[in-house]
Amino acid sequence: MATTESSPSSEPYDAIIVGGGPAGATAAWFLAKAGKRALVIEKETFPRFHIGESLLPYNLPLFEEMGLMPALRGAGFMEKYGAQFVLPDGSQRAEIEFGKGRFTDQPMSYQVERSKFDDILLRHAEAAGVEVREGMSVKDFQIEEGTGVTVTAQNGGPPEDFRAKFLIDASGTANLTGNREGLKEGYGNHRKFAIYGHFTGIPLPEDSRKRGDILIYRLKDAWFWFIPLSDDKVSLGMVVDRSVLQSRDLTPEERFGETVARCPELRDRLARAERVGPLRTIADFTYHNRRFVSPHLVRIGDAAGFLDPIFSSGVFLAMQTGKSGAVEVAAAIDQNLAITPGLRRYEKRTRRYLRTYFEMIENFYRQPFIDFLFQTDGKWGMPDAVVAILAGQLDGGWSVRWRLRLFFLLVKLQARFPVVERLRID
Ligand SMILES: Cc1cc2nc3c(=O)[nH]c(=O)nc-3n(C[C@H](O)[C@H](O)[C@H](O)COP(=O)(O)OP(=O)(O)OC[C@H]3O[C@@H](n4cnc5c(N)ncnc54)[C@H](O)[C@@H]3O)c2cc1C
Repeated sequence: MATTESSPSSEPYDAIIVGGGPAGATAAWFLAKAGKRALVIEKETFPRFHIGESLLPYNLPLFEEMGLMPALRGAGFMEKYGAQFVLPDGSQRAEIEFGKGRFTDQPMSYQVERSKFDDILLRHAEAAGVEVREGMSVKDFQIEEGTGVTVTAQNGGPPEDFRAKFLIDASGTANLTGNREGLKEGYGNHRKFAIYGHFTGIPLPEDSRKRGDILIYRLKDAWFWFIPLSDDKVSLGMVVDRSVLQSRDLTPEERFGETVARCPELRDRLARAERVGPLRTIADFTYHNRRFVSPHLVRIGDAAGFLDPIFSSGVFLAMQTGKSGAVEVAAAIDQNLAITPGLRRYEKRTRRYLRTYFEMIENFYRQPFIDFLFQTDGKWGMPDAVVAILAGQLDGGWSVRWRLRLFFLLVKLQARFPVVERLRID
């Protein structure tokens, strides 16, 4: 291990946060507000590209609490009031308006270019007093129970050691500590592949309440997201099961083009579209770690668990866990403890959040859920309960929970005894 350099790295921190994405920046801000000395180590130099551009309405109370609204409004991000699920030929469309959900009181959110959004969050944490080291990668960490952690990081020069009472892993899907401790678990055979890019030249609706809607095109073996980022830029991506990829050997461009061609509604929208920048790919997502907390260590955001992006839950969960993880770390530091009941409750709550979304995600890939999604008639407020989850209202209580249970029961029944018509997807 390298020798500790001179000040400021020689002074122990209250917490070292690995990663300056939404989870890390949020945690850092809350620690600074609690009067703690926090260091963020981020391997990239911001602004940097990141996928994950559609936010949820229940992000907004957190933005308000953090005083981020002026900067977010100033950035001119596209406003998002709803989501539309569309069958490939456009014959069926399920429109969700967040403002109309019986169990939601947050009507809108934003579609964001993550390079800009993440930079705003990180600079905001810095302005609150957090020390940020960019272009520096964490290479190693050592936990000494009862004392704290030593983190070894490097930015091209010799490695440097930093000490703290807590290590907060916000390293995203790099999953620094979870991988090191062998804690990563996949969700069954949920192995996906995504191909995505930014496009210009796509006309958007005139109606300002619909312009920023996220569109989800559901094909039989794939789905597309269509996220309007500005009047002349759309983020477009497809997610497909890896087994489908293996069936034929195509380049990502060929696969993307061929799948668009099978989706006439989308193909028509893209008639004059031009790609800006590269088409990118990512494989094998969706996992969680078996533990989110241990003495002196907390995992937040994707470093706790990563979910298939169908319901745009990633940034929301990253910031929620960033906040609650940091609040519990600050309390543990005040009590001079390495782990607390509060941190264990954090783990339990985070697990519940991940489970709630995963149940929706698993169902989304099954035909009966799609039958209901497109043909629901508002009975007993069940669609409102689904809207609540899609908006990020995860603490809606029993009135949301029993409706969701009933909804999933009907979806299960639909598989054996059709309650609504079975749709032909493509
Ligand atoms: C295809 C796809 C589509 C998605 N779409 C959406 C969407 O529409 N809406 C949504 O909310 N979410 C979406 N997501 C998910 C979203 O991108 C993530 O959930 C979110 O970015 C998590 O934030 P985070 O802070 O935990 O991690 P990240 O944003 O990934 O931040 C982690 C940071 O840690 C840094 N880092 C990693 N290792 C080290 C190291 N060793 N040392 C120092 N720094 C390190 C990285 O450089 C990075 O900046 C999508 C994801 C994918 C893959």
